[in-house]
Amino acid sequence: MKVTNVHNVPRPLVTLAEGKYYSKGASDYSVTELMSPPRVQRLRAQNDDEMTQDVSEMLWPLLGSALHVVMERGETEGWTSEERLFTEVDGVTISGAIDLQEQTPDGVSIVDYKFTSAWAVMNEKIEWEQQLNVYKWLVETVKKTPVKSLRICALIRDFSRHETGKEGYPKAPIHMVEIPMWDAVKAESYVRERLEMHRNSKLAADFGEQLPECSPEERWMSETTYAVKREGRKTAIRVFKTMEEAKELAEKEKGYVETRLGEPKRCTGNYCGVARWCDQYQAELNDPVV
Ligand code: SF4
Repeated sequence: MKVTNVHNVPRPLVTLAEGKYYSKGASDYSVTELMSPPRVQRLRAQNDDEMTQDVSEMLWPLLGSALHVVMERGETEGWTSEERLFTEVDGVTISGAIDLQEQTPDGVSIVDYKFTSAWAVMNEKIEWEQQLNVYKWLVETVKKTPVKSLRICALIRDFSRHETGKEGYPKAPIHMVEIPMWDAVKAESYVRERLEMHRNSKLAADFGEQLPECSPEERWMSETTYAVKREGRKTAIRVFKTMEEAKELAEKEKGYVETRLGEPKRCTGNYCGVARWCDQYQAELNDPVV
């Protein structure tokens, strides 16, 4: 992927954005790649030379990289930072770079930093659970040491002190989130299942067949909602999750129901970076559901 610099920001930022700092080492898949949708992964591999992103749009990835640089300065006894571990499953090498490991008498405690939103901290994020449990499996497989806890150190970019009274809202802009732990069998099955999906996707690409489609979750599909509206009123009277509820109120209010279709935000915002080459999404653009 080529990083452009439309707004002429300082060159060192471009260097950082070009990913000089990050590497998946000599592995076939990093944990992040393994978790990403197989269609996205394939389309990225096929179109890497043509993909572009402007450095000015990369604020959060850049701050993520900056954090890794800063972490090196926070060297603390009993803690290991930025360790990349490798293992092999059926001839495929997988690697994962673990932000922090605390050595305790009982084993290792894993911590992963995330720049994130207060909303993400308040809602279950299955990707965090999957990622950290693959790290746990890597540590236990490679280092033969038990992992005692998994935590996200959330750096909340939209933290607001006024909101701290709300139920579940983090109390401070740096907030620790405990992640449930899987046993080794569950983690290894997850890794094998993901590998299988990527293998099938690669085979499909090699034989010029249709790539497996991204699922609604992978596309970050928002919910379809039903707004009850009335002529002459700009805003909706109420918005429902089901058509039945909306119809019932619309009848009472002598109004009508407006269907607000869910949006695949990863596609529409091109957060996958490959929307223009994706026939699944392009077909929808050419033939939108009404
Ligand atoms: S555009 Fe949407 S469907 Fe296509 S690869 Fe990207 S996320 Fe998947």
